Amino acid sequence: MSRLLSHVGIAVQDIGRAIDTLQKICPDLAVAERVTVADQDVEVCFLESQSQGSCRIELLRGLTASSPISKFIEKRGEGLHHICFGCASVQDRLSELREKGFEMIDDSPRTGALGKNIAFIHPSSTHGTLIELEEE
Ligand code: ZN
Repeated sequence: MSRLLSHVGIAVQDIGRAIDTLQKICPDLAVAERVTVADQDVEVCFLESQSQGSCRIELLRGLTASSPISKFIEKRGEGLHHICFGCASVQDRLSELREKGFEMIDDSPRTGALGKNIAFIHPSSTHGTLIELEEE
């Protein structure tokens, strides 16, 4: 299903413990996908509600100390890392947003954890929140 908000990404130190915590809050959350993305140095786990419409929750764990997620946690602690909006074409959105003056982290779409085209908008252009665009 197409949703405005695809997911929220949370940087964590231990994915299993984070799943336990979230399932205590929302017992119907289930693991939808869990993958290791070696070239981005992260383990990613998507949780989704089994009974209610919602965006997914993406748990992110750095695989090594030099992972961007590990560095994020070292600097700020665990917590909200990014939000992700779905779109029809990441390439088109990148061009539009650049023309509007947004600072992009990615100059062109790259492949995300689930094989979809993604790109990130720099938080300096978005009131401090890292925003991911994901092709549906
Ligand atoms: Zn994400």
